[in-house]
Amino acid sequence: MILFLSCIAFRNNLCLSSIPSTLKSLPLDGHFTFDEVHFAAKDFGNRYQFLPAAILHPKSVSDIANTIKHIWQMGSHSELTVAARGHGHALQGQSQAHRGVVISMESLQGPEMQVYTGNSPYVDVSGGELWINILHESLKYGLTPKSWTDYLHLTVGGTLSNAGVSGQAFQHGPQISNVNQLEVVTGKGDVVTCSEKHNSDLFHSVLGGLGQFGIITRARISLEPAPDMVKWIRVLYSDFATFARDQEHLISLGRTFDYIEGFVIINRTGLLNNWRSSFNPQDPIQASHFKSDGRTLFCLELAKYFNQDKSDVVHQEIEHMLSQLGYITSTLFLSEVTYVEFLDRVHVSEVKLRSKGLWEVPHPWLNLFIPRSKINNFADEVFGNILTETSNGPVLIYPVNKSKWDNRTSAITPEEDTFYLVAFLTSAVPSSTGTDGLEHILTQNKRILEYCEKAHLGVKQYLPHYTTQEEWQAHFGPRWEIFVQRKSAYDPLAVLAPGQRIFKKAIPFS
Ligand SMILES: Cc1cc2nc3c(=O)[nH]c(=O)nc-3n(C[C@H](O)[C@H](O)[C@H](O)COP(=O)(O)OP(=O)(O)OC[C@H]3O[C@@H](n4cnc5c(N)ncnc54)[C@H](O)[C@@H]3O)c2cc1C
Repeated sequence: MILFLSCIAFRNNLCLSSIPSTLKSLPLDGHFTFDEVHFAAKDFGNRYQFLPAAILHPKSVSDIANTIKHIWQMGSHSELTVAARGHGHALQGQSQAHRGVVISMESLQGPEMQVYTGNSPYVDVSGGELWINILHESLKYGLTPKSWTDYLHLTVGGTLSNAGVSGQAFQHGPQISNVNQLEVVTGKGDVVTCSEKHNSDLFHSVLGGLGQFGIITRARISLEPAPDMVKWIRVLYSDFATFARDQEHLISLGRTFDYIEGFVIINRTGLLNNWRSSFNPQDPIQASHFKSDGRTLFCLELAKYFNQDKSDVVHQEIEHMLSQLGYITSTLFLSEVTYVEFLDRVHVSEVKLRSKGLWEVPHPWLNLFIPRSKINNFADEVFGNILTETSNGPVLIYPVNKSKWDNRTSAITPEEDTFYLVAFLTSAVPSSTGTDGLEHILTQNKRILEYCEKAHLGVKQYLPHYTTQEEWQAHFGPRWEIFVQRKSAYDPLAVLAPGQRIFKKAIPFS
């Protein structure tokens, strides 16, 4: 089975040259482009560029199904592959298809987004919909999705193919734990509706499935009543163990904050802000008085949602929860913003960075899930020895509860009940050979990964990236076999998401 799906390196050039003409003959509501394909060879990571042969701009689900069915029927003689491209915010070419077909999922409009109110409200959306649009639409009904990513200009299909994690995940689980139903086009071109009850194996395969089993064309997302406002809080620690103990305490409480994250501050003066968000404390003078003196500090970031009429009650609740924590007492920074401002906080920074040409730089990000029992060792080594001078971008760190993850999905997490997301969100200065250059950051990432490996920390990569199938096998561990079985059931020719580099389309010798 593995052999069948894995690499057989034979290139059929005759077949390659006939690709566009066979696609051109397909009856479609949307259209293909064969010339202006360069944009699909780029992504947020800005490091990998694979030119596709064609881009499909689908107007309907049947455009996607017909295209994939056509490629499926070409069989293993064609090396043509298909990648869904959400908003192109992958980091290492995951939404690209070298000489293949890229499906621009944002072109898939309709049927319209639909919100259903009632006891268990939900919204039906296209797989190419941006989360920011879902937020605005559901707010019209006083509702909101429960689980988010830090940045909302990502598509539903893109984040559900990974997991979708943010400061709400400790309570609600990742975004893949908040989906009721999907419509999927498999690697054979079949359109299948799936959920917990119907076609449940496909449903679980696709969630966290790195695009390997089907293209998500629609998703039903669970909603809850939306708040108006957010009390947004940052407090600082100089001791990592106290910081982590407090984070774990807060995620274990029944009644707690609605959002719990944290980040590491390495050798910085602008303590409270980074590109991830512009935080305006209510008392900016007090904030400016606190100096880090070159120390590494840990910032606990919290948010409590509320409606205007409950402001006082919420304030008391927050005071009570904060009184149990061990942060540096002079470092309580508070801000109050609307719910939309809070959730869309990263976009404000994006606009600023874009205007300075600092958004489209290489982003050699590294995201890790670390078991709770190993987080202190990890912090000692990484923040004590490896990252001491600069982090070249935000370093997020926060715990989540594994009980909120469904182990039937394809997402891979560490074994323990609690694990941390640690995200090194670095930006490299183009053509720099110094500590802010790509080579330096990649070397640091390598040192971090090598340390994790040597110290047997049981770490799993999030938004994983590997170059060999052995590494993928190690990533999936005991779940590799089921991953391969699912691949052979739903995408037996390995047509889908070639940019993940897990399987290669089988082309037999002839
Ligand atoms: C600024 C920024 C902040 C981020 N913050 C977070 C965060 O807080 N939490 C978090 O979890 N992630 C975060 N991410 C990572 C993000 O979730 C992934 O990069 C995601 O892949 C981006 O979604 P996209 O819509 O751009 O998908 P793309 O990058 O276009 O696609 C990613 C993968 O999914 C596949 N895919 C895309 N659409 C579909 C579909 N409809 N059906 C099947 N497969 C599909 C692609 O083929 C590809 O393999 C962030 C990324 C950025 C750039």
